[in-house]
Amino acid sequence: MCAPLRFYSTNRQVPAVGLAEALLQGQAADRGLFLPERFPPLPRSELAALRGRPYADVAVAVLRRFTAGVFDDDTLTALCRDAYDYPVPLEPVTGRCHLLRLDRGPTASFKDFAARMMARWMGRLHDDARRTLVILTATSGDTGSAVAHAYFGLPRVQVVVLFPPAEVSDRQRRQMTTLGGNVTMLAVDGQFDDCQALVKRAFADPDLRDVHLTSANSINIGRLLPQAVYYVYAYVNLADADRGEPVVVSVPSGNFGDMMGAVIAQRMGVPIETLVIATNANDEVPRFLATGRYEKIAPSRVCISNAMNVGHPSNLARLVDVYGGHLDETGTLRRPPDLAAMRRDLYAVSISDDETRATIREVYARHRVLLEPHGAVGWAGLQHALADRPALADRLAISVETAHPAKFPEEIRALLGIEPDVPPSLAGLDRRPESYERMPAAYEPLRDLLQARFNSR
Ligand SMILES: *Cc1c(COP(=O)(O)O)cnc(C)c1O
Repeated sequence: MCAPLRFYSTNRQVPAVGLAEALLQGQAADRGLFLPERFPPLPRSELAALRGRPYADVAVAVLRRFTAGVFDDDTLTALCRDAYDYPVPLEPVTGRCHLLRLDRGPTASFKDFAARMMARWMGRLHDDARRTLVILTATSGDTGSAVAHAYFGLPRVQVVVLFPPAEVSDRQRRQMTTLGGNVTMLAVDGQFDDCQALVKRAFADPDLRDVHLTSANSINIGRLLPQAVYYVYAYVNLADADRGEPVVVSVPSGNFGDMMGAVIAQRMGVPIETLVIATNANDEVPRFLATGRYEKIAPSRVCISNAMNVGHPSNLARLVDVYGGHLDETGTLRRPPDLAAMRRDLYAVSISDDETRATIREVYARHRVLLEPHGAVGWAGLQHALADRPALADRLAISVETAHPAKFPEEIRALLGIEPDVPPSLAGLDRRPESYERMPAAYEPLRDLLQARFNSR
């Protein structure tokens, strides 16, 4: 196996670190985001050999290239088998278009894939560290529950989740507030952007140096690497990998962590010919690709695909970096990326709520396939790409469904007049007692709470 990979910061003001440090730090000390110094290749022959293998085996094949020197293969294999014990359906829909359903984990969103792996990695690494690790996270719905479930009950780990109560669905909230234990839930009187800003401020606050904070948001590299795996899994099972058959992949995007997983898979050797970035009305990235100018959207626009209501995606700095540019932590473009290459590889499109609803109706009426709002944005984005780029017309295509329709029963009922089947993971939620604390959208109360409860001195 090759030498351990190192991870550099997109701001390049600090030396590169190993995976363990990158995981435990979350964000680099210069407020940049970690990226691997190289993308280890997955040769065609190895890709082809992964066809038909269990998901956990594919995870090992991909992740061992990043974890070498940190976890041995036996440890990684055990962690992957433990984390990935649920199905990953690949559903043919129409023509050569497929749906990759990432909604069968314990909290019914794709975020389970990364949160479960990262929690297991951190749990192992933290064993040596001997202090309480505080996982601080902001959520617009699904991160909070995936992270809280993944870290629930881990020794010497506390989880603190900030969420905007008006922007999460009833079921999303209950998934987070019915755990208790080492999970502290804070309902912030504001928007997701406020929650994210508070979390970022806490990470940068020298007053909190005795609170061992780390991030489980997708700024943590541990949230990205496991998200490369399902693109490899889908590809090897649907494509002629021996021939290097090209594929079109569509990812409904908010903070761009899921999409960065696809970029990693692509750089490792999965021939993703076009990566469709489908956003809701928060269209700052489609505009950026079209104009070359980057402007955040503040406040972010409230859409029915609520987990994607992001006006300044935290992972955009990584995408800009892999295309040779530099976007700093304030959202200022210091060096432009290679826009021509981005426009060639990517297809970015914004989908309105009206079109999202129409897509849910149409895909159900025509194909009897049930989408929820996020997956519908991805599907609509894919159709735009196939229509706009004639060369893609007969390509194998994969659209990602990022959440289970039963997380959004109100919307599905209103649109289709049916009640989505409730997966076992969501059953019984309505009866469990909830507990959470309310907080204003101001920094001092958060700092005081973290100091009072988690100071390690
Ligand atoms: C988080 C989330 C997204 C957006 O993913 P990013 O990695 O933030 O782009 C899309 N759909 C659902 C259901 C989500 O929970």
